[in-house]
Amino acid sequence: MKPINLYDLDLDELTAFVVSLGEPAYRARQLWQWLYQHAVADFDAMTNLSKSLRQKLATRATLHTFEQAMVQFSSDNQTKKVLFRLADGQFIETVLMRYEKRRTICISTQAGCAMGCVFCATGQMGFMRNLSVAEIVAQVVWFARELAETGEHVSNVVMMGMGEPLHNYDNTVKALDCLTDADGLNLGARKITISTVGLVPAMRRYADEQRQTPLAVSLHAATDAERDKLIPVNRRWNIAALMETCAYVIEQTGRRLTFEWALIQNENDTLEQADALGRLVQGMLCHVNLIPLNPTQGYGGGPSSRSNVEAFQARLAEYGVSSTVRVRRGIDIQAGCGQLRDRAILEAQQGKQLSS
Ligand code: SAH
Ligand code: SF4
Repeated sequence: MKPINLYDLDLDELTAFVVSLGEPAYRARQLWQWLYQHAVADFDAMTNLSKSLRQKLATRATLHTFEQAMVQFSSDNQTKKVLFRLADGQFIETVLMRYEKRRTICISTQAGCAMGCVFCATGQMGFMRNLSVAEIVAQVVWFARELAETGEHVSNVVMMGMGEPLHNYDNTVKALDCLTDADGLNLGARKITISTVGLVPAMRRYADEQRQTPLAVSLHAATDAERDKLIPVNRRWNIAALMETCAYVIEQTGRRLTFEWALIQNENDTLEQADALGRLVQGMLCHVNLIPLNPTQGYGGGPSSRSNVEAFQARLAEYGVSSTVRVRRGIDIQAGCGQLRDRAILEAQQGKQLSS
């Protein structure tokens, strides 16, 4: 029988599993704490569980999800990016960003992505498969374990790595529940952000479930003509449909919504786009994150010049729209999603050894 990965289970399922092993239900909570609070790497470390239970666990279950294939640090050492090799040979990327007191983990939700946004390295590689709950959760646990060695802990999680979280809806929300459980990592629901390309029905469903974890919407263009060029999914759900849904999300949550906008030189950084965006979101409870594009191999566009960024932001301000220019941390290690995997595959093809 294939061992069960315990990081695939929520607490109720873990309880059922523990009971099926002939153990009392309360053992599940102890086990859960070992999984998340102590983030131990094997069953032998679970010292308050009986030896017989540990043996049963070792034969029926596993804690192993993936292995590190490659690691990179930014030049200032504040950003660390890890490429994980999954059991079936797929690769995903996870990034740790240290910024002041924050320790933010940027996690992947799919291997590849089906949405095909033209400027995105993950979009350029296409869709391989959804990640399991364990594969999502274990990325955070892996860094939690590493940070604990220096007395640090994970403060924030952003689902902005590879993949579209709402295209892997069930596993994404189950992972959220595991990460926010008070007896586990105990991450505040609002310390996590789900970034979405704008899958309208899934956004509605998410809003209806009254979840506390905020969404960020990757808008990147304020006219359909421009957004169609950058984000193919806009042809399915256009800007009008998306904005109606965004208004619904704000109404349901009562909270400010974030829009993301990768500024591409002479493409979507024009004053016409700034005006269109200003008109679109004027008066809305929202904030715009402006991120100069991280260039990728499969796309010719480049990051906006400083003067274009400033002019764009100033124009937005005229509409009363607040925005922040985000520096892409770790740009020197290609921390844009999908880029490390590309490099690893290239190096593997060139016969180089992947470092670990
Ligand atoms: N699929 C989700 C989350 C993963 S992408 C989404 O699209 O929102 C996370 C963010 O990085 C998105 O806002 C995406 O548009 C942005 N992004 C992707 N490639 C980028 C690049 N090359 N430069 C800047 N931002 C990029
Ligand atoms: Fe997928 Fe997001 Fe990349 Fe678009 S930007 S291809 S939705 S990961």
